[in-house]
Amino acid sequence: MTDILEHQLLKSLKSHFGYDSFRGQQQTIIENVLNKKDTLVIMPTGGGKSICFQLPATIFNGLTLVISPLIALMKDQVDGLNANGIKAAFYNSSQQSSEQQHIIEQVLNKELKLLYVAPESLSGLENILKESQISCVAIDEAHCISSWGHDFRPSYQQLGFLKQQLPNTPIIALTATADKATRQDIVDQLKIPNADQYISSFDRKNIELEVRPADGRAKQIIRFIEKNPGESGIVYCLSRKNTEQIAKKLNENGINADAYHAGLSFDDRSRVQEDFIYDKTQVVCATVAFGMGIDKSNVRWVIHHNMPKNIEGYYQEIGRAGRDGLEAKALLFHSYADVIQLQKFAQGASNEAVQMAKLDRMKQFSEATTCRRKILLSYFGELLGDNCGNCDVCKNPPKFFDGTVLAQKILSTIYRINQTEAIGTIIDILRGANNANILDKQLNGVKTYGIGKDTSWNHWQHYIIQLINQGVCEIAFHKNNALQLTDFSHKVLFDGQKVFVTTPVEFKKESKATAVK
Ligand code: ADP
Ligand code: ZN
Repeated sequence: MTDILEHQLLKSLKSHFGYDSFRGQQQTIIENVLNKKDTLVIMPTGGGKSICFQLPATIFNGLTLVISPLIALMKDQVDGLNANGIKAAFYNSSQQSSEQQHIIEQVLNKELKLLYVAPESLSGLENILKESQISCVAIDEAHCISSWGHDFRPSYQQLGFLKQQLPNTPIIALTATADKATRQDIVDQLKIPNADQYISSFDRKNIELEVRPADGRAKQIIRFIEKNPGESGIVYCLSRKNTEQIAKKLNENGINADAYHAGLSFDDRSRVQEDFIYDKTQVVCATVAFGMGIDKSNVRWVIHHNMPKNIEGYYQEIGRAGRDGLEAKALLFHSYADVIQLQKFAQGASNEAVQMAKLDRMKQFSEATTCRRKILLSYFGELLGDNCGNCDVCKNPPKFFDGTVLAQKILSTIYRINQTEAIGTIIDILRGANNANILDKQLNGVKTYGIGKDTSWNHWQHYIIQLINQGVCEIAFHKNNALQLTDFSHKVLFDGQKVFVTTPVEFKKESKATAVK
């Protein structure tokens, strides 16, 4: 990159956006786009994705087409750009046809730098979808293309035609959702297999991670708050009723707390939100409706009274703590009743399998015996070299023993049934179960059938989850959660690679970590 271009980029950053320097990988991404290369950007919310396509748009000769699913937000974004002296407009179904015609004329007259379009409105733009007009296509919220993403939009699935129609126009796809399957699906469907991928770190080192069994959680929450007097925090709950119950309990214990959920009036919600932002209320007990768009830098802790339904949600919610970069805590209560409740919610959903798979990952995180941050980050495709030192597992490591033989029993079962079955069936085979599923599929003939009778079902589950968390085997969410072998499995089966696992801990009433004061 020449100094001249760098100078030009910084100048544009300052004049159009008012900033003095780029954040994270912004500059490299922008250079890649300006070099007309397809680009995939994974950056956490608030990371600064917009500038990655807005700044190149100011430099390209032609139009940058921005595909966005959020019609409601388009106007704000366009107003913001125009206020910064960048000619932009939006085109969607909320407009009259005369208005739409006017926009098309503006494009044909090369008056616009950016045009925001809802995917379903693209069909109205046929006569401007030419390489002579369009310099770049940005696809915002790109995870919407994938039914593996958490916010699938069918209208995103037709976007593959863009690359076919505009083979020489760079596409930049952006999202904050980064699991591997979704990423792969995005580049496949957009037909940009060679896109350069820029994955920003999702690590929030200042947030201490902890998971505790949910026994007596109300009492535990009260003790936690008493130990951190005066510090702002959010207690996330599963139901509206929960938020009110917990807030009431906290009040009864002299803690300044409010409830927040979508069932409250607009005025009540605004009041709770403002009182929290201005430190008049110390604690808000809320459903996940709370927090979006709230910019409060000194939230010191986030407690999950109930387990979130997926890691994306969990990550987003704990991310509201410690935005000032100072020490913060995230405490999650893990209960099997919650897991079952969440499974019920997912049942019958159009993407039930996806929701269940995501819930499983959340459950594995909660049951982890290895560094939790490693698991969290690996979910977003990021590999942490060392253990973090700032999670409960790192601080209080469980005791390990040589579980190589156990692992070999599990892996050879997976191997012998051609990697086609999920955890439950693998355990049933190991334990020699006689249920209909086993008999129907004639799994009682598998060589390892019944070799693990002496180990309980729950213990097998505990061991398998650890193998998954260590990468010794993996779950194929796309294949009914079937357990699959990895390169690591082959080493364990054939190359003498040892595996260490922890002794299962029986569910304790009051674990050491909870015995506060
Ligand atoms: P995202 O789309 O990734 O959620 P945005 O693009 O909305 O994030 O950016 C989040 C905030 O960060 C915005 O207020 C934006 O103006 C600001 N921002 C982006 N880039 C920079 C930068 N280089 N320096 C300072 N602030 C920035
Ligand atoms: Zn750790």
